[in-house]
Formats: sequence, structure tokens, C-alpha cells
Amino acid sequence: MIERRKFIKVSALTGLAGLVSGKVAGTDFYFSKKGQPIVISTWDAGIAANKAAWQVLSTNGSALDAVEKGVMVTESSQNCCVGLGANPDRDGYVTLDASIMDENFNCGSVAFLEGIKHPISVARRVMEKTPHVMLVGAGAQQFAIAEGFPLEAQKLSEQAQENYDNWLKKSEYKSPAINVEKTKEHGPFAPAKLDNGEWNHDTIGMIAMDFNGNLSGSCTTSGAGFKMRGRVGDSPIIGAGLYVDNEVGACVATGQGEDVIRVAGSHSVVEMMRQGLSPEAACKKIIQRIIKIKKEKAKDIQVAFIALNKNGQHGSFAIHPGFEYALRNTNNEKLVKSKSWFNI
Ligand code: ASP
Repeated sequence: MIERRKFIKVSALTGLAGLVSGKVAGTDFYFSKKGQPIVISTWDAGIAANKAAWQVLSTNGSALDAVEKGVMVTESSQNCCVGLGANPDRDGYVTLDASIMDENFNCGSVAFLEGIKHPISVARRVMEKTPHVMLVGAGAQQFAIAEGFPLEAQKLSEQAQENYDNWLKKSEYKSPAINVEKTKEHGPFAPAKLDNGEWNHDTIGMIAMDFNGNLSGSCTTSGAGFKMRGRVGDSPIIGAGLYVDNEVGACVATGQGEDVIRVAGSHSVVEMMRQGLSPEAACKKIIQRIIKIKKEKAKDIQVAFIALNKNGQHGSFAIHPGFEYALRNTNNEKLVKSKSWFNI
């Protein structure tokens, strides 16, 4: 489990140059002035990832470089959730998904990729060096090796090994619905709620705006822990796990990928922002859509969206409490607690 990082508040929100609070469509928001760099990313691992992204943004680098460099930190971190040390599939193999998108609708992704430490960088190469958007499995690995990425052995982190050993005791393959209470058993679909009340989350998604006011996004994951071999989630699917429209805003998703895919989640959130909703209200609208589709099964799954609009406003919404996102801009480095549909 990623170590829970302390809530860091560099300075008070009010009265800071370039940071304004207000209300749009009935929800609170904070925003940086347009052109003031900002990065947001999912969960507490985002604090460390944002630091790397901020190094790029604060030295006038591009949002695209920032979102790649940022999530590479998490891919390298040997935790249970992202990268080669993450929770494996039910057969014991770590398979990785990632996507990246820039301000010009250029996008690239990889899915079901094995043995490569930085899937996000392979996704970027797919975007920049091929006529395609998505490469999967052996083909994605072949491309990565041809591009000079070393083939590495998977080495489960201690936590991932423990999670897998626990799961093997029952090898219980449940339907994609998470029973929030029962996921103590580390059920196959992430994010599951653990004994200590934290979510076992498997993705980092990041969105940034640079000094030029350009937006980019990235998303990288080991997917749902103990998934069927070959299962691919929302994270590498442009429009589901990630979407960027530089005229409007950007969104990334985390949670049960199947339910993000069926509503084209991130694209839908961006479309809501296009219609004038604040990032938080837009995320809430699509969470509501998922809840309407899932009916009583919505209790059993977690999905969360984070979004950033062209003016630097940011927000999120989740199905269940417990989700938070990391924010970094000129004045702040902190975790923001998300609102959620169910308020336990
Ligand atoms: N969205 C990811 C997937 O379904 C998992 C996660 O965010 O935890 O692959």
C-alpha cells in the first residue's frame, strides 16, 4: 500500500496571489489564473508524482513533459498499485496499461504490456513515433524493446506479494462488482477497501496546465488486482480513463474501469465542462450517470474522476468517500478530499 502522506499545506488558500475561490454551477472551486501552471493527480501517491511534474512546469516546461515525468515516479516506486511491482493478475503476471494525451489531440496508449518499467513513456512513443494510438500485449512489448526500453523481470513488491498470497488462499473470482465490505479479502477488482479503511487503488492519473495555458494528461496502472489474464481497463482507453480537449479541459479516472468505459467517462466529463459545468459538477454528473446505470450495485464499486478546466479550475467527484487527489501549483502542495455520492 502506498504510504499515506501527510496532508501538506504550504500556505493558506485565501489571500494568495493568483488563487481565487468562488462558485460555479453550485459547487465550490479554486482556480489558478489562466497560464499559471498547475498539476493534479489521483490519490496520495500524487504528492510525490506532482513534485516531479512541478519541476518541469515551474521551469517553463510543457504540460506533456510534466505528466510523463510525474507518473514515472509512481511507476518506479515499487508499490502494490502501479508499475512492475504491482498486484498481478490471477495467474501471477503483472500487466500494465497507460495512456497520454497532449493539447493537440495527439494521444498514445499501451495495454496488457509486460516487463517494461515505464509504460507511460512507451505510450508517448506510440503517440510520437507511430501512426497509431494504441499498441497492446506482445506487439507493445516488441515496439518498446525496439525503442530501447529494457525488458525487465517483474518483481512483486512485498505488499503485492502479500495481497496475491492472500487472494490465492481462496482464488475467488468475483463478478466485476466490488462488495465494499467484503473487499477485506482483496477481491479481484480494484480499488478495494482494506481493513484499515483505505482504498487499494491501482492507478495514477495526472493532468497539468503549463505556462502557455496548454493542457496534457497521463494515466498508468497495473489495472484491477487479480483480474483475468488479458483484461484491460479504462486507463489506456482514450476517452474512458483519460481525455484532454485544450479548448475546454481535461479529465482522468480511477476506480472500476469497466464502469468508466461504459460511460466513456473522461470524455463525458470534458463534454459537461464544455456545457459550462465546473470540474466538480461535471465529474458529479458522470458519477450520477454510472450510479443510475448500476442501480443498487453502485454500492459495490468505486469510481472517481478528477478534472481541470482551461481556466485552471479543478475538482473531483467519487462514488464512495475516501478518494482524494493531490494538487500542486505556485502556492499549494496538498491533498484535496473529494466529495462523493455516498457519504458514510
Ligand atoms: N481504473 C483502473 C482499471 O480499472 C483501476 C484503478 O483505477 O484502480 O484498470
